[in-house]
Amino acid sequence: MAESLSISPDVLHRRYEEEAQKRIEFGVRDYIDMVDIADSDFDRDPYAEPLVRDALVEETDVVVIGAGWSGMTAAAYLTDQGVTDYKIIDKAGDFGGTWYWNRYPGCQCDVEAYTYLPLLERIGYMPKQKYATAPEIFAYAQLLGRTFDMYPHALFQTSVTGMEWNEERQRWRVTTTRDDVIDARFVVICGGVLHVAKLPGIPGVYDFAGPAFHTARWNYEVTGGGPEAPMDKLADKVVGIIGTGATAVQAVPKLAEAAKELIVFQRTPSSVSPRNQRPTTPEEWAEITAEPGWHERRMENFIEGTIGMQPEVDLIQDGWTEMFYVDPKMPARNDEEARMLEEWDDLQMEKVRQRILDTVKDPETAQKLLPWYKISCKRPCFHDEYLPAFNRDNVKLVDTDGKGIDRVTPKGVVVGDIEYPVDVLIYSTGFDNTSPYHHRLGFDPVGTGGVTLSEAWAKGMYSLHGTLADGFPNLCMNQALQGGQHINIAYASTKTSEHIAWIIARALEENVVIEADRPAEEDWFNYIIQSALPYFAYFANCTPGYLSNERKDADESMSRSACYMGSAVDFKRELEKWRSTGDMPGVIRTPL
Ligand code: NDP
Repeated sequence: MAESLSISPDVLHRRYEEEAQKRIEFGVRDYIDMVDIADSDFDRDPYAEPLVRDALVEETDVVVIGAGWSGMTAAAYLTDQGVTDYKIIDKAGDFGGTWYWNRYPGCQCDVEAYTYLPLLERIGYMPKQKYATAPEIFAYAQLLGRTFDMYPHALFQTSVTGMEWNEERQRWRVTTTRDDVIDARFVVICGGVLHVAKLPGIPGVYDFAGPAFHTARWNYEVTGGGPEAPMDKLADKVVGIIGTGATAVQAVPKLAEAAKELIVFQRTPSSVSPRNQRPTTPEEWAEITAEPGWHERRMENFIEGTIGMQPEVDLIQDGWTEMFYVDPKMPARNDEEARMLEEWDDLQMEKVRQRILDTVKDPETAQKLLPWYKISCKRPCFHDEYLPAFNRDNVKLVDTDGKGIDRVTPKGVVVGDIEYPVDVLIYSTGFDNTSPYHHRLGFDPVGTGGVTLSEAWAKGMYSLHGTLADGFPNLCMNQALQGGQHINIAYASTKTSEHIAWIIARALEENVVIEADRPAEEDWFNYIIQSALPYFAYFANCTPGYLSNERKDADESMSRSACYMGSAVDFKRELEKWRSTGDMPGVIRTPL
């Protein structure tokens, strides 16, 4: 492994910029979002038995929209607070959110399960391995649903089509694709962070004659097998997979084992570091869980260990805490520190590149797999079988040198002048995370005075803690914009759920309508933007991707979408401090 840089930092950084510029100049980074083609075959739910039920006309205290971790933890904490008159609505056929939809082969969580799984200490479940597989996580979501008795409250295979504030009744009216009409005192939107799958916005996506699907809608009827069983229908098939992000890194080795031939179409390589998966032993588990409060401590330790806080003990000891023992994104206090942070970043990426050169036998393929950007420009991946897959005779890498594929034809995929015929086409092209919030939700809430969220936020978002918004009474949102963030996405969303449940329980108890006050929202925005500004410089010269907002120039609206960039633990403490005042500062409370 590299101890020092093999090329000069100037040359390296020039290469980084050239690679980024190349991708910006190609300018073909449009996408087709699933919310815009919800009726197409691409968005069909391959996992659920079609459900028939009558439309509901009901009144309830709370409607929770979304049944992934944020919706589920909101429901759990509402139950803790004694609020049990609620409905939880999701388009999926069960609980789990991301873990309902993502059933592609090899799918697992890259954050260790002992840290990642929400409410793990309360549930008392022992994960089978350090990094849980998708089926195990989905089963855990179902267990969480049963433990907190959420199933009777759930409306699955149901999408919200709209919600409107009725000023006379002081209630939200929520409508759905199943013609439900539900009037609720409160609505909690838990739309998820990466829930809208996207396809490349290139010609021919609908023209391919064979089976084609997105990784988040894996079609096992076509591939055979299952998330944990070999795909037995691909042995005579040429399979093409577009994209080489965190998802493809997990799926490619399984496809390589199953397909006659696998063609991997790459626009930008991922960084892939060692995974070191291992089973959980009862002895280790007893040690981890020995002291009450262990889960909270472990989650906090992971956060501290991955934002350069260098806690005395590293409880996690994995690739994340090794790579981010120093966090090069953090604002430097002086030139010397800036140099040290840059050097750390450069060295980590040098290690990543060296591992590729050491693992991939064909030098030309190895060169194409080298990532030329800083460590946080894309989500770093950890995998032990991805790179070796390129040593197999049946796996071919088609590198598009930053441009992306040109088009899809009835027969296959075109890159430059060459058409690559395939039998099965898989889009591993990610999720929309940069379009306006209402677009990703798939509906546009109508607040006080008939003003929609898209109108109210036309010049950017206004919120208190990312959860309450003026003009939208009794609406709570659980999302990262103006809220907390971390590699362990489940942490901030769980803390936000706890916060929201507390607010709703107080408001129900006091029989008031709540609404954020605009000056308080401005104070919050000014506070978070101070925490976020120093980080903008890091992402400003990243290779395009969702973490760098595809390198679009930041306007006012984009800067208002900043997250709180202090630590996620500090975000939790901010929320706790606010709750401890008892009188909801910055919130207007109007008696019903
Ligand atoms: P990504 O957005 O990371 O990757 C999409 C891939 O598709 C990229 O390689 C992208 O290239 C490529 N692509 C898009 N359009 C084209 C095109 N026209 N031609 C060729 N290639 C194209 O999506 P993923 O689903 O891989 O991951 C999304 C996120 O999901 C991750 O960042 C992570 O946060 C999460 N995830 C988490 C996991 C976990 O274990 N916790 C596991 C898997 C995913 P380019 O890079 O150039 O844009």
